[in-house]
Amino acid sequence: MTTIICWIRRELRLADNTPLYNACRRADTVIPLYILDPALLHSARLAGPRIGWLFDGLRQFDQDLQRLGSRLILREGSPATVLSALVQESGAEAVYFARDYSPYAATRDHSVETALRALGVRVELFKDNVIHEASEVLTGAKQPFSVYSPFRKVWETLPKPEPFPAPARIATPTHLSSVPIPTAAEILPEPIVLPGESRAKARLDHFLSSAVFDYDTARDQPGIDGTSVMSPYLRWGMISARTCYQAARDAETEAARQPDSTRARQGIQRWISELVWREFYYQVLLTHPHVVRGAFRPEYDRVPWENDDSLIDAWQRGQTGYPIIDAAMHQLLTTGWMHNRTRMIVASFLCKDLLVDWRVGERFFMQRLLDGDLANNNGGWQWTAGTGTDAAPYFRVFNPTSQGERFDPDGVYIRRWLPALRKVPNVTIHQPARLSAADQARYGCVIGRDYPAPLVEHATQRDKVLTAYAAIKKA
Ligand code: FAD
Repeated sequence: MTTIICWIRRELRLADNTPLYNACRRADTVIPLYILDPALLHSARLAGPRIGWLFDGLRQFDQDLQRLGSRLILREGSPATVLSALVQESGAEAVYFARDYSPYAATRDHSVETALRALGVRVELFKDNVIHEASEVLTGAKQPFSVYSPFRKVWETLPKPEPFPAPARIATPTHLSSVPIPTAAEILPEPIVLPGESRAKARLDHFLSSAVFDYDTARDQPGIDGTSVMSPYLRWGMISARTCYQAARDAETEAARQPDSTRARQGIQRWISELVWREFYYQVLLTHPHVVRGAFRPEYDRVPWENDDSLIDAWQRGQTGYPIIDAAMHQLLTTGWMHNRTRMIVASFLCKDLLVDWRVGERFFMQRLLDGDLANNNGGWQWTAGTGTDAAPYFRVFNPTSQGERFDPDGVYIRRWLPALRKVPNVTIHQPARLSAADQARYGCVIGRDYPAPLVEHATQRDKVLTAYAAIKKA
């Protein structure tokens, strides 16, 4: 009788779960284990409502496992200690888990491997979180890429692995104890999506049969439900990147059968290229772990950030007086998610208009985003701050007013998240402070009472930050 422990970290699913699939094929009994690791649970990066979403996700996964005759074993403690104890208790001969790419994960996994090997237990790590790992996507000189486009070109040429099916049944020893799944203190008012593998798959299928066809153009408009919102599911492994890719390719084949399929195929190809960004940032994190602490290009660690607490507070609460920024921050605080276009605009505003260190925003996003993910969040912030890999050049500063006018021309997004601006006409919705006193009263949007005046003047701040960046460039 062989027993394998499958240590689940960010693979909360049955379908295409590489360690689980392999454990089920090779063992008589499998122990699906999730460890509540105090180092992560109590870290600032997992605080806030996103932890509640994880707990609900664990409950869903446990129910899914129970349908296959198994259950989730939940234990609390340091992973090396918990795994060593469970191995001795269960007589497991091996522990399987998926590779993770953060510096913390590397240290943790190394100590787990050392502890388990000392007990004579086999440890097997699998590629699971990405379609292609850093070691597969290399330059001609066998080096990792630090620029996205050539990375994507090579990524696209590599043969793609097929997703594994879900196991039909999982036999799990019945005598093992498990702590109850905790309940979170803080929950989101309107989570953008609810957790769970079946919900992830249903949403993916819906997206790939509708919105993806317009994705190439609609993906930049935050007022439209034009993107997949797969990110929270991908973050916690409620769906795999392989499944997303395969489903997108199937949708492309289907679209090619229809007359005039160009738009649909462009949408699908563009969507796949976003999945590649996700993988690109994992390889940046793995090959340049210094990005966790500082700029990818270290000279930008010398930007003279001002980090004014009152400005940071206004940004976090969505009280800047710039409607697109405030709407986006309210979307984040309410749903645990923010549209990609507005992520770029609010990040640029924090760093470039308020001269706040990108790491302040990165940490806040990490605590609030259901999809908060070290690699992608860090990549997004460094790109916008102009400190990263193929970053937006430092002199590209997003103008929050013209970005709003361009990507939310009818103010749909702003009205959705800022009730005070609901009656303001389209022509002034991006600059309500320009309304006359009489119009402010008429539209129920008195500046200073119902909605704040702009916190800073964009043009002035832009000049200031560009001078600071240019000085670094010259030095
Ligand atoms: P879709 O447009 O449907 O794209 C499909 C998938 O591709 C996404 O689910 C995501 O996994 C991936 N993807 C899309 N755009 C990007 C991108 N620019 N970079 C990397 N992967 C991408 N994404 C996260 O998953 N976690 C984060 O913590 C995160 N923080 C960000 C912070 C900033 C400042 C910025 C500018 C971007 C950040 N992103 C992050 C990337 C991107 O905004 C989100 O992945 C995207 O908005 C998720 O929505 P979606 O699932 O509807 O994406």
